[in-house]
Amino acid sequence: MAKNHNKEPDNPYADFQRIDEGNDLFKQMFKYSVIPTIIHDMDMNIINVNDSAVDEFGYSRNELLNMSIYDLHTEEELDHSNQVLNEMERKNKLSVETFFKRKDGSVFMAEATPCKYLLGDRPIIHVFIQDITERKQNEKELTDSNRQLNAKNKELEQFAYIASHDLQEPLRTVNSLVDIFIEEYDGKLDQEANQILQFLSKASTHMSKLVQGLLEYSRIGRNQAKAIVNCNELVDSVLRDLSAIIKESGAQIEVDDLPEINGYKMDLRLLFQNLISNAIKFAKKNIPPEIKISATKENNHWKFAIQDNGIGIDEKFKDRIFVIFQRLHKEGEYEGSGIGLAHCYKIVQLHGGDIWVDSIPGEGSTFYFTIPE
Ligand code: ADP
Repeated sequence: MAKNHNKEPDNPYADFQRIDEGNDLFKQMFKYSVIPTIIHDMDMNIINVNDSAVDEFGYSRNELLNMSIYDLHTEEELDHSNQVLNEMERKNKLSVETFFKRKDGSVFMAEATPCKYLLGDRPIIHVFIQDITERKQNEKELTDSNRQLNAKNKELEQFAYIASHDLQEPLRTVNSLVDIFIEEYDGKLDQEANQILQFLSKASTHMSKLVQGLLEYSRIGRNQAKAIVNCNELVDSVLRDLSAIIKESGAQIEVDDLPEINGYKMDLRLLFQNLISNAIKFAKKNIPPEIKISATKENNHWKFAIQDNGIGIDEKFKDRIFVIFQRLHKEGEYEGSGIGLAHCYKIVQLHGGDIWVDSIPGEGSTFYFTIPE
């Protein structure tokens, strides 16, 4: 098969590929192709069909050989097929999505790939017709469920935002009333009443933290623009903010050279802050935290690692810890509200990355997250 290099403007077949009439490879490919294939002339009359085309359209070979390609199109597609021909005037090869009609009247969507050949001196169009009904249906279902999922997510976020925002005000009132009560009745109540008040105060403070966390969670990614973020500077400023607990815990923190990435600065800051403060918080008793922060470039993303020598996490909890309000400890054991890692998960997702943990209980954990370059 040789490409026709004749470029004379008055030659209408200059861009047709020339093949010998006796070309066996062409004949075999046509005959044995599992894709329904039809050859028609420049007047759209069908001049050959393969077995797959006979099976697909339900007409006999002889019937098809007496038909035009137009007879296989639906009425609405006739215009379209003219457009396809016009396109073909300009290009040597293209695929188009179009509808075809079988003998029994059923219609299917197909990807038609026409190729132009000069068989000897005769111009022909060789068309692969691949049924894509199922593919289209799957695509549609996927798009529909994505749309529904997005709408539901937005609705949920909106709900969490409004609920947590509006709950703050009455909670503030409860907190300050409890404080006033404790102050006013100091020494006037018996021990049991004092204890109840202490519980009340603790519970309402905890609830405020949860509501605040939920509000921050629903705010992630809202009204922010992406920018180039220098992670060295970002981590430096997080460490400055955490300097009191770093000093108190005696933590040793080693930071490798970190890259610049494209992202939401405030959210990335929260991500590092949560992971580093967890690495400090979940230290083994009487063993100062040793933390290493690093990043490596892999394929088309940066992989960050925050490694600690803390208490570690049991394999069976490795996924659960990223769910909002999930904690592995009893109240009082370690401070917290179970929101930090849910924040991290949402932030990494927002950047199109992934987050996970590798850990050996009793030896330490390494939290990894990726951010596309
Ligand atoms: P919080 O720190 O408020 O408990 P997080 O969402 O940050 O909530 O973490 C969820 C749980 O995951 C923690 O309660 C803890 O059990 C576990 N965890 C998180 N980071 C670490 C870590 N570096 N080492 C050991 N356990 C961790």
